[in-house]
Amino acid sequence: MSSMSLPQLREIRYETPARHVARIVLNRPERRNAQGVVMTYELDRAFRHACHDNDIHVIVLAGAGDHFCAGHDLSGIEPLWPTPEESIGLWGQYQGPGWEGSYARERELYLDITERWRNAPKPTVAEVQGACVAGGNMLAWACDLIVCADDARFKDNTADMAMPGAEYFAHPWELGVRKAKEWLFTCDWLSAAEAEKRGMVNHVVPRAELTNFTLELATRIAQKDRFALKLIKEAVNAAQDAMGRRQAMSVSFALHQVAHLQNMLLHGFPIDLSKLHPHLQTALREYQDKARREEQPSNASAQSP
Ligand code: ZN
Repeated sequence: MSSMSLPQLREIRYETPARHVARIVLNRPERRNAQGVVMTYELDRAFRHACHDNDIHVIVLAGAGDHFCAGHDLSGIEPLWPTPEESIGLWGQYQGPGWEGSYARERELYLDITERWRNAPKPTVAEVQGACVAGGNMLAWACDLIVCADDARFKDNTADMAMPGAEYFAHPWELGVRKAKEWLFTCDWLSAAEAEKRGMVNHVVPRAELTNFTLELATRIAQKDRFALKLIKEAVNAAQDAMGRRQAMSVSFALHQVAHLQNMLLHGFPIDLSKLHPHLQTALREYQDKARREEQPSNASAQSP
């Protein structure tokens, strides 16, 4: 075991269900496992713990309840920014004026930390059921393998908010170029069967068998040599990166920021709210008000999803 201790966890669970396997569970089923600042840094601590634990070879990422993840938590009931102590990057100034704070926040919370998990050296397996929406896809995509239940469905509805896709823009790599375009243009659901056909998921299994199937797969992989597994992962990731993945993602992240600024200019809000449910519009305006109250005095910007 590693000597690193895992502090008390509020929004995730950390389990070791089989030899050499850690299972991290998003544990906010009442909010469809929406990912806020608390969950983000608990996840990071859990990944760090599993990676530094000599006895862990494979990490499963699952979600409690009926749905894997509803995306980013925009309720505003949690802290909006990481503290310098928990932050994994060096950008800082998350409450900076103009777009400085929003840019730094999106880099830290959505792009850089997701990339960090994608590059965790040990193999990771996502276990996905029910709805997986917008930022929720980023969590699944950061894993090396995806097993999903036959009731799993995937959506990135950012175009309905006048936004060009979630921040970690793996869409073309996950779906292929044409399907990625159609999926983003339409905001339609992608079924588990269609996701498997596109190569986005490794297996589709009956809902009742999801956890056992995923654990069995993880356990079989975990019997292999730990270092060889790390090197296999690094080699395949390097091949994908040699195809330009990281550079393309840098461009799409910059375009994502252009869209936020366009929405600020047109609507005074980082996204276009007009097509969203009235309840969500109200919640998001309250979220922005909270962000404004907590900003630095000279700040005229808003926080963004
Ligand atoms: Zn954004």
